[in-house]
This record gives sequence, structure tokens and C-alpha cells, in this order.
Amino acid sequence: ALSVDGLTKRFQDIVAADELSLEIAAGSFTAVTGPSGSGKSTLLHLVGAIESADGGKITVDGVEVTALRRRRLSEYRRTVGFVFQRYHLLPALTALDNVIAPVLPFKVGFDKRERARELLDAVGLAGRERALPSQLSGGQQQRIAIARALIGAPRLLLADEPTGNLDSANGGQILDLLLELREQRGMTVLLATHEQHIAARCDRLIRLADGKLVEDIDLTEGESPESTLARATQLRL
Ligand code: ATP
Ligand code: MG
Repeated sequence: ALSVDGLTKRFQDIVAADELSLEIAAGSFTAVTGPSGSGKSTLLHLVGAIESADGGKITVDGVEVTALRRRRLSEYRRTVGFVFQRYHLLPALTALDNVIAPVLPFKVGFDKRERARELLDAVGLAGRERALPSQLSGGQQQRIAIARALIGAPRLLLADEPTGNLDSANGGQILDLLLELREQRGMTVLLATHEQHIAARCDRLIRLADGKLVEDIDLTEGESPESTLARATQLRL
């Protein structure tokens, strides 16, 4: 499980995370919403420890991430998968080599190429191992990025507007895939999004404004997808 307690991050006079506290259950799928500049990306970056907090505490499975340094911090980062809006694939590398890239410098207890092939299969790209990113559609490129995020078998997947560059049909399919992968692999997912049709399909919706938590809604409690959507529509996402 993930626990955030009094988390604060400042950029000069901007408070991007303002004493944020929240508990995220292991295996849950949470949408992080809120207007531009409300601190969604900042929260994901702090949880993934790619930025450091100015105050407060983040604990993941009993480990205080905000207290980790050097080697322990790099080890923690490798247990987290990141997916971004703009895919961030390496254009000169094939799909397979992009998936392997995060673990390339490390000794790991599995066959890297075999795991990468299995993941490309899991994201629906079997047979496209040798394709270059430029030869693939946006949705397919995001699938490679998702496979890459999973190469280290992360317990935590952080997705920052993963559907933001896709049309609603392709975006919906990427969300289907993320929901299915969470089901299969049991990881915890935090997904930042502006899109109501995406947020409405998550287990829980948290809303930020000016770095503060302003809304926190359980979307799973005995609801049909239709009533969940109706409820999310009322949330003025
Ligand atoms: P968007 O929906 O546009 O992606 P967001 O909710 O992800 O927005 P953040 O990127 O977390 O928002 O930014 C929160 C606040 O922190 C904003 O005011 C932003 O300008 C500021 N900020 C974020 N990163 C930096 C940085 N590296 N340097 C200075 N200010 C920053
Ligand atoms: Mg952002």
C-alpha cells in the first residue's frame, strides 16, 4: 500500500503539493484529476521519487521512500513503472529494445528479451518486436511504453495522462489495457488525467486544486458503469 502524509513540494513561490495526505490501497486503480497546474504530475513524480519532497512522508509497503538515499533510492525507483503522455520512446531503437532499455544496464533474474517479448504480446504487439516507433501509430507507441514500464515487474505504475495524445477510441483502449494488466499483475496504479470518460472508469477518483486534495470519491461501491459515468459527469471534471 501507498501512504502519503503531509507531502509538500514548492517551486519558488508556487506550492505544487500542499500538505497532501492520502492512503492508496495495494492493487487499486486511482484517477488523479484536477485543472492544469493543480499538481497531478508533481504528485506522481514525488511518489516515483524522480523529484524530492520539501516536506512530508511517502511510505510504500512499509518503506519510507522520502528517507531513502543513493543506492536504496535507485532500487526503489526500479520498482516503479512510469508511462507518459508523449511516450518518450527512443526513436532509433526497435519496439523490443525500447522495452528492454530500462533494465539494460542491470543484472536481472530473468531473460530480458524473453520478458520483453512476453510483454509486447501482453500489450497486443506480438509480431511487431522489430518495428521502429516511427512505423507505429500513437496507440501502438503507447503500448510499447506500457510494456517498457512493466519490464521490471513494478508494484506501482504511475501513468501521467497516458491517453492525452490519443483520440477517445484509442485512449479508451489504452485504459482497457491498463485495467486488464492491473487485474493480471496486481499492481497499484495512479493515473493522472483530464478526461472524464477515463477517470470515470477507475476505482477511485481524487481531485487536486492548487496542490491540495479537494475531492476523493470511491467509484466502485455497488455501481454500474452507467451510474459511475453519471456521477463523474456531476463532478465537473
Ligand atoms: P497539467 O494538467 O498541465 O499537466 P499538473 O496538474 O500536472 O498540470 P504540475 O505539473 O504538477 O501540474 O504543476 C503544479 C505546479 O507546479 C504548476 O504551477 C507548475 O507550474 C509548477 N511546476 C511544476 N514543475 C515545475 C518545475 N520544474 N519548476 C517550476 N515550477 C514547476
Ligand atoms: Mg501534468
